[in-house]
Amino acid sequence: TAELALIEASIRDIPDFPQPGILFKDITPLLNEPEALAATVRGLAAPFRGAGIDHVVGLEARGFIFGAPVAMALGAGFVPARKAGKLPSDIIDQAYDLEYGTATVEIHADAITPGSRVLVVDDVLATGGTGRAAVELVRKAGGTVVGFSVLMELSALQGRGKMPDVELHTLLSV
Ligand code: IMP
Repeated sequence: TAELALIEASIRDIPDFPQPGILFKDITPLLNEPEALAATVRGLAAPFRGAGIDHVVGLEARGFIFGAPVAMALGAGFVPARKAGKLPSDIIDQAYDLEYGTATVEIHADAITPGSRVLVVDDVLATGGTGRAAVELVRKAGGTVVGFSVLMELSALQGRGKMPDVELHTLLSV
């Protein structure tokens, strides 16, 4: 559609960032393009309207930017999933593997209550490690993962393969 073409045209490729050999998808031009920004938020939320979403979990940091307006569009609350050590109150955490070492994502323990219906939002699905950790985190908290909504899937990295049990919605697949 015209909206998806506008979104795609607003994302730029940055070679060798953050390391040599990585082609980084930079979404900052999209954020600075009002029509593309609005279309992205609408597109991330659309499949989950009427799905009874209670909370949108956004992944630090670009998942915060899209997650909060998606939560507003769905009449849901917003829950930040942060890197280790950033949240001030009691937390639930989930570790996951990186290429070298491990990382941890955290949410506040009281943010999601048992039975909550949750949509996870992020900008880019690459290897799927981050998204998978977020799914496990929500389930640890007793929530139901209704879906995972992502702006862009880097299909060569096969992150989708880590989400066989999740309704994965991506606006763009490259
Ligand atoms: P994964 O865990 O390998 O799927 O990586 C996904 C996480 O890394 C997401 O939180 C993304 O924001 C970030 N990420 C990975 N590759 C890119 C990229 O090319 N552009 C922007 N973010 C990226």
